Amino acid sequence: MTPPPAKQDLLLTILRGLVGRCPACGHGKLFSRYLKPVQTCAHCGEALGHIRADDGPAWLTIIIVGHILAPILLFTATDNTWPDWVSMIVWPLLALVLALIVLPRAKGVFIGVIWRSGCIGGEH
Ligand SMILES: [Zn+2]
Repeated sequence: MTPPPAKQDLLLTILRGLVGRCPACGHGKLFSRYLKPVQTCAHCGEALGHIRADDGPAWLTIIIVGHILAPILLFTATDNTWPDWVSMIVWPLLALVLALIVLPRAKGVFIGVIWRSGCIGGEH
């Protein structure tokens, strides 16, 4: 693993993680599958597979999805004329879709920030 450039901006690292790109070069893909990070970047060869984000992405996903859905639920709950069974399908489905969208981006951000810090993100 090569150390990150000293002047690399944290915001740039976060943005590369958000779009699922290598935190080092910004060109190679960060994930080989939905949440499976590549072992090494195909473009620059940076080792990324050893970085463990653990529960961080799930935590960030819950925070983001909760802050999106909670206000919508509160504002719509007072005037909601839907039958209960519709609400019981729509809200959990919306939460699931949002979580599936946010989770890989949150993991990309965590991997990028961990990579930038020089830590490996595990208990090794
Ligand atoms: Zn790269």
